[in-house]
Amino acid sequence: MSIEETIKQLPKIEQHVHIVGSVRPETLLWLNKQGEIKLPYKTLDDLKDFYAYQGFEHFLNVYSMVNELITHEKYYEIITYEMLQNQHNCNVKHVECIFSAYDHMHRGLDFSDMVEYINKGISRAKRDFGITCNIRVDVVRNYGPEIALMLLDEIKTNGNNIVSIDTGGIEEGVLPRTYAKVYEAAREQGLRLTAHQGEAAGANYVWECIEQLKPERIGHGVSAAQDPNLLSKLTRRGISIETCPMSNLRTGAVKSLKDHPIRRFMEAGVKVSINTDDPPMFGTDMNTEYLMLHRELGFTAEELYNIGLDSIETSFIDEQAVSYTHLTLPTN
Ligand SMILES: [Zn+2]
Repeated sequence: MSIEETIKQLPKIEQHVHIVGSVRPETLLWLNKQGEIKLPYKTLDDLKDFYAYQGFEHFLNVYSMVNELITHEKYYEIITYEMLQNQHNCNVKHVECIFSAYDHMHRGLDFSDMVEYINKGISRAKRDFGITCNIRVDVVRNYGPEIALMLLDEIKTNGNNIVSIDTGGIEEGVLPRTYAKVYEAAREQGLRLTAHQGEAAGANYVWECIEQLKPERIGHGVSAAQDPNLLSKLTRRGISIETCPMSNLRTGAVKSLKDHPIRRFMEAGVKVSINTDDPPMFGTDMNTEYLMLHRELGFTAEELYNIGLDSIETSFIDEQAVSYTHLTLPTN
């Protein structure tokens, strides 16, 4: 078996993927036919240029356009199911998916109905592909801490399968301490904690994040690599990094994959996972992430397999309840 084939067959874990960022172009066309908002795209060819990554501003436009097309809670079932089918096609066994609830609530959609449809998609995918999935709510820094506290209340009453919270969205200019009370309350509520940090802002944001918010994982964390003291701190505290290599390449957080700090994190003793973030919008999927790390940074199948094992350990799952005994390295 070729090394590429072996890598595709490796079992994988996804800790950082946005549901809305995973909508297939075909499904976007279908959504476009359903509601009142109409994009001027009728065929996949029409859509190709719009969907391909052209720059960060353009990516935000695509992302918000997909958000606008989700005009009913029920669409969450199909987009969650398809996101998990795509992951299954790359042999991903467990997914922790990101749900930015308020992006839809401020347009009038209901939190508990959306969660119910997401869970329907998850249940169908589990039945069809054996894949497991839990939900993390991104309180999105753009909306402020009051909205985040309101979301925690929603999770209290309608939090089926929601295991963690996250701060994503705008990074530069929103100091992590703004969310200290929110994280404290979430911890008391029994939620696990993670935060997008060190993607667009410097290592000082990651420092403040770990001191003030005490997350268990950091999403992206690219700028943390500039500070060896910070890396030792992450290692000592057992805080892992959800790396998103292709996303970082597309958005310019790294100039090339060869510059990606994933190896520096590992050499400092920080546990990492490999993630797709917004796969079709960044022209990636989990196999592509693995293959690019092999081609550009020389990762072997065994190293990638071991990252998968570490990712199980740093995932927010009850390891007793999920059997990962099928994680065996294919032989060449
Ligand atoms: Zn993300």
